[in-house]
Amino acid sequence: MPALRPSPITPTVDFERDGVQHGFLRLPYSRDDSAWGSVMIPVCVIRNGKGSTALLTGGNHGDEYEGPLALYDLARALDPKNVSGTVIIVPAMNYPAFRAGTRTSPIDKGNMNRSFPGRPDGTVTEKIADYFQRELLPRADIVFDFHSGGRTLDFVPFCAAHTLPDKAQEKKAFAAVEAFSAPFSMRMTEIDAVGMYDTAAEEMGKVFVTTELGGGGTSRAETVRVARRGILNVLRHAGIVDGAVEKARTQWLDMPSGDCFAFAEEDGMIETMVDLGEPVQDGQVVARIHPVGRTGQAPQEIKARMPGLLAARHFPGLVKAGDCVSVLGVAVQG
Ligand SMILES: [Zn+2]
Repeated sequence: MPALRPSPITPTVDFERDGVQHGFLRLPYSRDDSAWGSVMIPVCVIRNGKGSTALLTGGNHGDEYEGPLALYDLARALDPKNVSGTVIIVPAMNYPAFRAGTRTSPIDKGNMNRSFPGRPDGTVTEKIADYFQRELLPRADIVFDFHSGGRTLDFVPFCAAHTLPDKAQEKKAFAAVEAFSAPFSMRMTEIDAVGMYDTAAEEMGKVFVTTELGGGGTSRAETVRVARRGILNVLRHAGIVDGAVEKARTQWLDMPSGDCFAFAEEDGMIETMVDLGEPVQDGQVVARIHPVGRTGQAPQEIKARMPGLLAARHFPGLVKAGDCVSVLGVAVQG
């Protein structure tokens, strides 16, 4: 395979320098309203000597807010005196999507979490992914990527890691999830892991931790509190920030199979029959989809294919065929 060209992204920060630096990952993007212009992705580096490196991201999807809220805050507040090692913070990873308030980039429709390993000569989204793949991920020991449901899903607040073939790597990830202390902790299964940032980090042998902390295209007071406390807990757990982990009770959940997910088979108006966090029996109707084109038609019933609790639900009132309607989790011992 021919060698890849260098990334077009230039950081305005020095990842090896001690202290606090607020700067940019500058990505040239020449366009109608800005000849020779650039996308300026905010980055903060807080370093104090040798030690582990944490890479923290929010805004992988541009309409999810707990991560950016917690990370802009952390970048402002974290004192290098309390740090051993390096904390790299990119609070809005897909910055064009974040500025537009959309899941994917308005420039190229790129879904950051399906764009890995990216390309240095690809679209704007692929160039950002490539920079993470080849420049930032290799620096990191622990990688934390915040997600929430965005405009089309809502979740019970959970921190998560994946079951992995390397059990030592998996154990470290689940220990970091436990330290985060969200109300729920998830052993996660993906429906489509190809191209994900998660997969890129895990294949590099990194400890990768993520969240789903709510959704609906906004944030809640509780979920933002969970995010702020949780990320400090993970940094303390990793020995990068001093102080003790502030433990809170967490309920572990499992996603044992694809039966966790339910999808709409018709367009219509959704009626949730169960609220987030409530228990669900096998065969129970979790949602109904009402056809709206004419009166007199029965709603489509979405039935659970396993017992569990409702971990996620479709958010806005209208659904289209193929939309994810619900995700169930199964309560297990930690
Ligand atoms: Zn997301």
